[in-house]
Amino acid sequence: MIIIDGSAGEGGGQVLRSALGLSLVTGRPFTIENIRGRRKNPGLLRQHLTVVKAACEVGLAECKGAELGSRRLAFVPKGVRPGTYHWTIGSAGSCSLVLQTVLPALMVAAGPADIVIEGGTHNPMAPPFDFLKETFLPLLARMGTKVELELLRSGFYPTGGGKIRVGVEPAAKPQRLTLIERGPTHLSAQALCVGLPAHIGLRELDVCRTKLGLTEKETKLVQLERHGPGNVLTVFARSPQLTEIFTGFGERGVRAEEVAIRLVEQVREYLQSRALVGHHLADQLLIPLALSGGGRFLTTEPSLHTTTNIEVIGRFLDIAIDVSPFHRETWEVRVGR
Ligand code: AMP
Repeated sequence: MIIIDGSAGEGGGQVLRSALGLSLVTGRPFTIENIRGRRKNPGLLRQHLTVVKAACEVGLAECKGAELGSRRLAFVPKGVRPGTYHWTIGSAGSCSLVLQTVLPALMVAAGPADIVIEGGTHNPMAPPFDFLKETFLPLLARMGTKVELELLRSGFYPTGGGKIRVGVEPAAKPQRLTLIERGPTHLSAQALCVGLPAHIGLRELDVCRTKLGLTEKETKLVQLERHGPGNVLTVFARSPQLTEIFTGFGERGVRAEEVAIRLVEQVREYLQSRALVGHHLADQLLIPLALSGGGRFLTTEPSLHTTTNIEVIGRFLDIAIDVSPFHRETWEVRVGR
């Protein structure tokens, strides 16, 4: 039995999700203690419970400790069942994070899966819908797994109520992935205002034009009346091999200009480095790469999510993952040989 300390490293939900995902793939049971031990509100919240239940269904698993507030879980998977699933988080918890947990198993499953997930679709601290669709899934496709993703309804924090549909076609022959050369990068920005006045998005886009040198044509306001309120500012950095996406979220008490300035700083940090893979994508690529025969990428300074994920992967898989400085503000990550 593998024993994972849920308070090690980043000490949040990712330790739990990665352990569940890797346990499903390898068939190796595990126990996790101190779940989300570094968070102010440790233990399983509603969204983590949905993640655990989803993993139990996909892995036909026996599980002890799957209760709200639980800090300990024992998980024994019995296989991977592709097929049809419908999971409802019951809060604004992120649909992407539920998907992130079961996707590694469904990538290597014996047949396709069709999944509906209800919850948040544009959450701070989780991969937003556009990031999944335009950044992450095209890379998974290059590794051999085709995933179709559809936004049925947007869901924002704190109301939730979003819905996505996901179709997974497992890889016939997993492919290695190398992401080194960024090449010419084209920026554009989109401000989404749902049930909120247009001036919020327009002010955010103004900052993007001034500080990132974008033209009128490269900025777009999208206004929707339903399923809000929500404000999401997205900067797309399109280069020949991938589209990196940077996301800022409007918050009560934070001026629109401030939301945009914080986002511009993230974009500049990325552009100033030689990295192709951004801060968030780096930690999310590790498990798919480890399961697809490995690969190599350049990224910005590895986050605690990245280093923690490497630790958790090492507990389940016999694969070397090395991180080394490559150039100013750029690191190289090698997965496998
Ligand atoms: P945790 O904090 O443990 O719940 O993990 C959060 C996960 O969401 C990590 O895999 C992050 O890389 C990812 N994430 C957080 N914010 C973003 C963002 N703005 N864009 C893409 N992924 C994100």
